[in-house]
This record gives sequence, C-alpha cells and structure tokens, in this order.
Amino acid sequence: MTVSQEHTIAISPVGDIDQHLINTLGMDINRVFGVKTEVLKIIDDLEFAQDPERNQYHSTPILEKLAFLAPQRVIKVLAITKVDLFIPILTFVYGEAQLGGRACIVSLNRLRENLSAVTQQKIFFERVIKEAIHELGHTFNLRHCKDHSCIMHYCRRITDVDRKLDSMCRYCKIFLDDDIKQLVK
Ligand SMILES: [Zn+2]
Ligand SMILES: [Zn+2]
Repeated sequence: MTVSQEHTIAISPVGDIDQHLINTLGMDINRVFGVKTEVLKIIDDLEFAQDPERNQYHSTPILEKLAFLAPQRVIKVLAITKVDLFIPILTFVYGEAQLGGRACIVSLNRLRENLSAVTQQKIFFERVIKEAIHELGHTFNLRHCKDHSCIMHYCRRITDVDRKLDSMCRYCKIFLDDDIKQLVK
C-alpha cells in the first residue's frame, strides 16, 4: 500500500536546520508512513506569527500558511523550526498539527532540555523524530493515545517524550493504515 509515486511528505526547514537531522527525519518518516519524502523550503520568515509580549511564535497561523503554500504533490508538510512555539491556551508546545489536515510543525527549542553537549545528540535526534512523527500522525487523523509507550501519546514534559517509543501501537497503526488508504483512492 503506497500513495502514488509523485506524492511526498515535505520536510520544511524554517531557517538553518542541521542537514543530518533532516536526513535522519526523512528516513524515519518514510519508515513509518511509507511515503516518499522531500526537503522543501516554504517559509523563511515567521515574523507574522510572532507574539512580542510572549516572545514566542503562535503555531496555528504558521500551519495555515504552510498548508496554503505547499505544492500539490505534497500530501503533508512538516515544518521544523528553532523558535519557541505556543498556542494561546498553553505556555508552550513542542509542536502542533492540523488534525486530518495537511500541515504540522515541530520546534527544536525545548527538545534539548537536560541535554548538555554533542555527546547527547542521539537522544536529541530521537526526541525530534518522536515529536515529528507524532505531529504527522495527527495530520493522518490520529488522536492522542492512552498507551504511554505509543508515539501518539501526548507529552506534557520531556520525560514523557523520552519514555515513549518511536513507533505506533497496534491500534494507532490500524487507524493510520485506514487513513492512508483513504488518501490513495
Ligand atoms: Zn499531539
Ligand atoms: Zn497508540
């Protein structure tokens, strides 16, 4: 079961993002969703989403812009940014997604928590991959999962992120396959 050949999931760096991280993400996204990935710059300036009082960026308008600007072949777009993101009801978010929509975003800002240097890059990458696949999962209509080890489990703090696995539980996988089938039709 694959989406048609020309379709992609676009990984969209905002600003300067580590190329090695982008490549690793590409492989993991392909592993989980079975869709080809591409790297595609779409937005470079997030000023429109900045909240000067909070000194953070509101993720929802960024998602709208990404969904509007992404080319046809792109079924899902995942933006990666270093800026700190929020939605009005929360002090911060690791990322946000349009449920069943086209766009999602992950911030690297708080995923370095408790990690010192380059030696811990592996853990940092794992966190980014988990949060990226989690947000992409939402764009494929997946909701939060009660299973603490499932990648679709909601993470309030970094220890939650570290505890969960980098894959979906049986149930989420079934829902994902169903949603991908719908897309192919
Ligand atoms: Zn979520
Ligand atoms: Zn699950």
